[in-house]
Amino acid sequence: MKDKRLYSPKYVREILDRFGFKFSKQLGQNFLIDGNIVRNIVAKAGIGKEDYVLEIGPGIGTLTEELALNCKKVVAVEIDKNLLPILDETLRDYDNVEIIHGDILKVDVKKLIEEKLGGGPIKVVANLPYYVTTPIIAMLIEEDLNIESITVMIQKEVADRIVAKPGTKQYGALTVFVNFYCDVEILLSVPKTVFMPSPKVDSAVVKLSLKKALDPVDKRIFFKVVKAAFNQRRKTILNSLASVQLDVDKSTIKGILEESNIPLSARAENLKIEDFIKISERLASLNIY
Ligand code: SAM
Repeated sequence: MKDKRLYSPKYVREILDRFGFKFSKQLGQNFLIDGNIVRNIVAKAGIGKEDYVLEIGPGIGTLTEELALNCKKVVAVEIDKNLLPILDETLRDYDNVEIIHGDILKVDVKKLIEEKLGGGPIKVVANLPYYVTTPIIAMLIEEDLNIESITVMIQKEVADRIVAKPGTKQYGALTVFVNFYCDVEILLSVPKTVFMPSPKVDSAVVKLSLKKALDPVDKRIFFKVVKAAFNQRRKTILNSLASVQLDVDKSTIKGILEESNIPLSARAENLKIEDFIKISERLASLNIY
């Protein structure tokens, strides 16, 4: 193991200055500079010596290094070409790290898992660029990839929405979407001070463990219902579902809600995932989509 670890703020500054690196706000570059947080993320993600790990956005390699010390292999996808020569230097002592230059939303992750990560199931660990948190999470959980868990640092506000309970302001389409696919857990709250530069928002680390068996509901109809319901979240569920999006008349929706034991006056935020599933199953049985 190296005696100088990458999370030392002095070392980070020295490397960045030597390479003349300028942070890109646009790419969500806030690098970790706290050893405890870095170690904690990897420990709480449950990374072990046999694990294959995909990291998104290694930056200068701080989290990558901790992963490399604890797992079998890390593949890290970084969009910013200015970081590549830095990563070449900072991770040169680790032969179980592979850096790929690219945009994670454009990379063929399925192929990458098959060709470079032992075929899976893999674990994803990342301090995500906040400007693309939701599309990245959506891609990882929706695309039927062989992923066991996703442990990511995200904005605290987004983490709160993911773990929100029905009846709260934070509960919404994102909550239902993520909880449909995953068991979710907040692992850590993270202060702004552990990043260089400091972001404007607080952060949290969440672990999303992908469910082995999903509810057999028609996903297309289910998410159509969820979207329509939360699109007009201040309306009653009866009115929001009777809107144009679902193309079903109000009396049919009323019947479906009554059969599902959902009060007509409820709002989307009062419905549990199971309620959305019941509605979707009844809509599916009408064979109109
Ligand atoms: N992992 C490093 C750390 O914790 O110090 C850096 C985290 S920083 C919040 C996010 C990283 O993601 C940056 O290195 C940024 O260049 C990279 N990035 C941004 N958008 C990306 C994308 N679409 N695909 C891959 N990497 C991306």
